[in-house]
Amino acid sequence: MSLTERDFAPLAEVAVRLGVNLQPGQRLWVNSPVAHAALVRAVARAAYEAGARDVKADFHDELLGKIRLEMAPEAGLAEFPQWIADGLETEAKGGTAFLSVLGSDPELLSSVPPARVAMSMKAAQQAMVNYRPYLLSHRAAWSIIAAPAPAWAKKVFPDTPEDQAMDLLWQAIQRASRVDGPDPIAAWHAHIANLQARVAWLNGLSIRQLHYQGPGTDLTVGLPPTHQWVASGQRRSVGYATSPNIPTEEVFTLPLRTGVQGTVQSTMPLSHSGQLIDGIALTFKDGRIVSYSASTGQDALGQVIETDDGSRYLGEVALVPVDSPIAQSGILYYNTLFDENASCHLAIGAAYPNTLTDGAEVASDQDLLEKGGNVSMTHVDFMVGSQDLSIDAETAAGKTVAIFRKGRWATQPA
Ligand code: ZN
Ligand code: ZN
Repeated sequence: MSLTERDFAPLAEVAVRLGVNLQPGQRLWVNSPVAHAALVRAVARAAYEAGARDVKADFHDELLGKIRLEMAPEAGLAEFPQWIADGLETEAKGGTAFLSVLGSDPELLSSVPPARVAMSMKAAQQAMVNYRPYLLSHRAAWSIIAAPAPAWAKKVFPDTPEDQAMDLLWQAIQRASRVDGPDPIAAWHAHIANLQARVAWLNGLSIRQLHYQGPGTDLTVGLPPTHQWVASGQRRSVGYATSPNIPTEEVFTLPLRTGVQGTVQSTMPLSHSGQLIDGIALTFKDGRIVSYSASTGQDALGQVIETDDGSRYLGEVALVPVDSPIAQSGILYYNTLFDENASCHLAIGAAYPNTLTDGAEVASDQDLLEKGGNVSMTHVDFMVGSQDLSIDAETAAGKTVAIFRKGRWATQPA
């Protein structure tokens, strides 16, 4: 199967109109594996139709990246061209929107020592210190979409011939991304309205802390007094609504940096920068991860947690029921863009300032820390949802409210 520009048109349309919500006269910068050039061409067409001033793509070849990680001397791995990071910052400052295309082998880098992968990632993260806040604060519009790739399809459907596996993965991506029906834009508007109703209900509760209980999990997560729940289709600091992830099923906020206590057990594997991590167990004291283990990818997990001081704390609390369409498909994607939308999840690392009602006041790391949020170069989601998960909320008024029972919402919003 070879997918064409025409096949990708509905996904491209949703990415442009709702994902980055491209404004007339705006520039679009697309980051993509070179294997997905047909999708990027479809995106460019949709963008110009929406009035784009210019569309540029930054293509990369993942196998070339792998050769570098295997063979480059450490001196080279520890460097990232500053002009690239500065260029992105200039584009963000100038109002450019950013779209990333995902879709690669979830185990691309399984043979590369995790320390070498981490060294390269850290160099990039350090170089992007002035660009990243535009993304975290949503002062720049951005979104992420995915296209199928053969090695990814074989990982998801291991017993199926490659061609058929690609077909199945593409169908699953389209369904999850809500672009398989006759009017994807209308489907997205209805979906956003549902998510926003849930957001309004949660914000009305004034939750002080959440208590998670499940197999291997007994975790209390405090929330800052000015936290707010957010979801797709929300108006952002950039001045208009965006949908940063396609697909998305989550409503999320930030934890109080020093308010997490107890133990949590992950419920799904996760592919982080081409390496598989599974069976994560974390123990927290006053927000800090005091012990961690993984049944697979212990070294890769260690590299994440030891990125910087902030990677010892959590930055995101997201709620997704086990009856979400992506969860019900029963497919394990080995790609966080999909798997995090099939499961309640938490993220190690940076918090998003827009998860605070006073997030617009956050101009520095110090500001975010003072409001109870976490700061880090990294942000790695891991899944904690299952049929056995219960979550209770304790409200500011001291009431206990059932949020999740058996992995599903315990109450429907009015
Ligand atoms: Zn999330
Ligand atoms: Zn996240």
